[in-house]
Amino acid sequence: MGRAVTTVNSGKMMLEEIKKALEFYQELGFEYLPFKAVTSNELRVTSKATNYEPKSSLITEPTLSRRFGTKGHSSHVKESSLKSLRETIGDCKRCKLSDGRTNIVFGEGNPNTEIMFIGEGPGMEEDQQARPFVGEAGKILTSLINKMGLKREDVYIANIVKCRPPMNRPPQDDEINACKPFVEEQIKIINPKIIMTLGKTAVHTLLNIKTPISKLRGSFHEYMNIPVMPTFHPAYFLRNPKDKWLTWSDAQKVIEALNK
Ligand code: SF4
Repeated sequence: MGRAVTTVNSGKMMLEEIKKALEFYQELGFEYLPFKAVTSNELRVTSKATNYEPKSSLITEPTLSRRFGTKGHSSHVKESSLKSLRETIGDCKRCKLSDGRTNIVFGEGNPNTEIMFIGEGPGMEEDQQARPFVGEAGKILTSLINKMGLKREDVYIANIVKCRPPMNRPPQDDEINACKPFVEEQIKIINPKIIMTLGKTAVHTLLNIKTPISKLRGSFHEYMNIPVMPTFHPAYFLRNPKDKWLTWSDAQKVIEALNK
């Protein structure tokens, strides 16, 4: 009888654990679980590994505040260098994207961060608010940043081109070439430990290659001696939400690298 009660209790605990795990993945935006089906034999083997810890927990709160919250001399210098860069850009008319823009979207965030996110260019919301990634795709990016154990204000977010391309078309080569020096300077000033590029334009521009994003994502590349992790643009997930786990997998590699 005692043994039967113990078995029932451990069954309840297991169900509780499964429920928590499912809620965890649902919170991450998963619509199905990215696991392959396993045989009952495999289940018997893997069921021993019960001490799973989400990788995001590898970064502890004290570590985060050391990395992303510190305001020191270097932060002050970086802030004033970014301010000078913004002044240099001025009311830029160096390319034809200036014709249709409402605002220049320079970029924002913590200049002392160890991680920069670089996208393609502003959309309609961003153009109106002069802030990067504040529309629907921005919500997805903010959610990713939060799932990584960070806040938006802990990181720095910028784009390859600072003005909105008409009808949200991809920026053209002449526009990218005209604007690229600004993002390069932002990277030099911030000197992050890792760059996460969002979408093909960002990674193709920084790495000067044309390899499809599907082949580039998931492993580190290098730009100015800084590791670059390419991943999909958050707007891609508005159409393909089931692929969100791919970017989460890329983000986990970034978390691990930051924690080394
Ligand atoms: S996209 Fe860049 S180069 Fe072109 S007008 Fe805007 S700030 Fe200037």
